Amino acid sequence: MFCPDCRTEYRQGIEQCADCGTHLVAVLEPLPPPQPGQDWVPVRTVSSETEARLIEGYLESEGIPCGLVSRVFHAEPVAFGSLGRVQVHVPAQHRDRAHQLLGKLEAQERQTGSVGDISADC
Ligand SMILES: [Zn+2]
Repeated sequence: MFCPDCRTEYRQGIEQCADCGTHLVAVLEPLPPPQPGQDWVPVRTVSSETEARLIEGYLESEGIPCGLVSRVFHAEPVAFGSLGRVQVHVPAQHRDRAHQLLGKLEAQERQTGSVGDISADC
């Protein structure tokens, strides 16, 4: 016999847990599986938040949660026109699908000639 609350095992014939007074059961329900921690990985780095928001909106419309991380590289010369970089992050389990979707999106953009400055280095 088992206590469903504190999961202590008891001899046959005992009906109440000595620790918490809960009625014992013959079989314990399995514990729910541990929640895997969500690892977020970058799928795209873009040069503006506007572009990042576009990608975020696109991925979220496909059911993939997104997070934006701003990265400002102070080493880059300001005269070069760099305002920093925005990384689009997705949960690791959605990475492959996000890459597929972004590949499709960028193929469309190339066809319409409105390709942004999206680097594929990550
Ligand atoms: Zn108990």
